[in-house]
Amino acid sequence: MSILDLQGLSKTFADGDNTIHALRDIDLRVAAGELVAVMGPSGSGKSTLLTIAGGLEAPTSGQVLVTGRDLAELNPDERAGIRRRTIGYVFQDLNLINALTAAENVSLPLELDGMKAKPARTEACTMLERVGLADKVHRFPDDLSGGERQRVAIARALIGDHRLILADEPTGALDSVNGEDIMRLIRRACDDGAAGVIVTHDAQLAAWADRILFLRDERAIDHAVSSSSTDLLLEAASGSGTSGGQGL
Ligand code: ADP
Ligand code: MG
Repeated sequence: MSILDLQGLSKTFADGDNTIHALRDIDLRVAAGELVAVMGPSGSGKSTLLTIAGGLEAPTSGQVLVTGRDLAELNPDERAGIRRRTIGYVFQDLNLINALTAAENVSLPLELDGMKAKPARTEACTMLERVGLADKVHRFPDDLSGGERQRVAIARALIGDHRLILADEPTGALDSVNGEDIMRLIRRACDDGAAGVIVTHDAQLAAWADRILFLRDERAIDHAVSSSSTDLLLEAASGSGTSGGQGL
């Protein structure tokens, strides 16, 4: 069974009299252990795809199945439960809570799910250790560097029994060394049995994935990763009028 199964997914937004087609008839299945990179120019629907996969937004048409359950058939509480328990989401702007320490930010999903504060904090510290922040667990987000904040957001996404990791450009603000660290953590979570979908504009980081979903003109091309296919994708990306990758 796929952990994530998107079937015939379309999303339109109304823009005055116009209709914006953010996604058109996208299919994507991600099994346990698999990591899929999503690439495409700015505005091609990458973030929209992720928010729909994470149950944060509903598609205009098509189905979203997470661990076999159709999100549209769940009531809001059940959907929220899946989001808390099954899905780890790394937002593009991280969404850390500034009034909470790193450990409190990471333990929050467990506590919201009913775990007592103490064991939740202990698990959070273990997870922060795994992302290399053992000595910074009591720091507030404002007292951490950009890369460290990113790692806190990753730790929060990886904690608990999150079988689906969704990350929207989690390496966007990082240098290549830190970006690779983050990629390695997500890759390891997938090797340990999670399914991952990561938006990135960096073809070298995308090469860590098993497959690349390339969004273009609201449609998708699904590639197995090989060194030659990432080169092709890089060419396709730079040929689309976006320069240097940052605009993707
Ligand atoms: P990407 O992440 O690839 O840059 P997005 O998924 O953010 O692309 O956006 C895809 C398209 O959908 C864009 O044209 C964007 O302007 C439009 N869009 C996204 N979210 C909304 C929204 N809430 N309302 C209206 N249009 C939106
Ligand atoms: Mg985006």
